[in-house]
Amino acid sequence: MQLQFEKVTKSFGDLNVIEAFDNTIADGEIVALVGPSGCGKSTLLHMVAGLQQATGGSVRAAGQPVEKPAPERTLVFQEHALYPWMTLEENVALALEFQDQPAKEARAKARQWLSRVKLGGFEGYYPHQVSGGMRQRCALARAFIARPKVLLLDEPFGALDALTRMTLQSVLKELIEEERPTVVLVTHDVDEALYLADRVLVFSQRPARVLKEFTLGHIPKTHDLTAFADIRCEVLALLGIDTKDDPGTESPIPNKGVTA
Ligand code: ADP
Ligand code: MG
Repeated sequence: MQLQFEKVTKSFGDLNVIEAFDNTIADGEIVALVGPSGCGKSTLLHMVAGLQQATGGSVRAAGQPVEKPAPERTLVFQEHALYPWMTLEENVALALEFQDQPAKEARAKARQWLSRVKLGGFEGYYPHQVSGGMRQRCALARAFIARPKVLLLDEPFGALDALTRMTLQSVLKELIEEERPTVVLVTHDVDEALYLADRVLVFSQRPARVLKEFTLGHIPKTHDLTAFADIRCEVLALLGIDTKDDPGTESPIPNKGVTA
């Protein structure tokens, strides 16, 4: 499903969050949004989800103005947001029950999806009985089971340790390749953006505007991101991280780079 942003502005009272954002995301494209904290990335996702309305301009999905939430546009948060009193299977099935699918079928499909995210055997566990990574696998199963045309991911793995995050990125990549939704991924992890996205938009401080756009294309990718080293440096530089002379890294020259 194509997404179109035309001169989208958003303010909360006097606070201008997004300024004249123009972009078109093609059907099946995977676009990552990176930018400083508080610049308006989540707000942009919320507008696509239909949870927030633009102050000016328009947000369209498949040519239609987005006015309210719809199951075809699914949002996944960092906090897995599973119901603690429901088993993993019940949590995943709920996404279909909300769409009025009979409970028995919903449960059967939930079991299939849990096995697709390698949670077979854990159907009857409650969220607190499994790890953070497993909860987020479950959240992915719950997002994908409804076969959304647009998947909106808001720092989906932000709460996970680095290794678990990389594993989950691979699980997500596989699901996206199989299901082909249009994806908008908000992340503060530049490597995550490079690994998953076809295109990366780097935003400025609030009010957010696009500083630069990087088209990576459908290159088969692994976590070996060496091919993207130059783009990675450029994105980090736009975010204010100097990779050439990073004061946070150890310098071979005595005293150089020591700030504290
Ligand atoms: P990001 O996701 O890039 O970190 P957000 O989109 O969450 O940033 O927020 C951008 C700015 O808008 C922040 O200053 C935040 O406090 C403000 N903001 C977000 N949602 C609301 C709201 N519902 N009401 C008022 N201010 C908000
Ligand atoms: Mg945010």
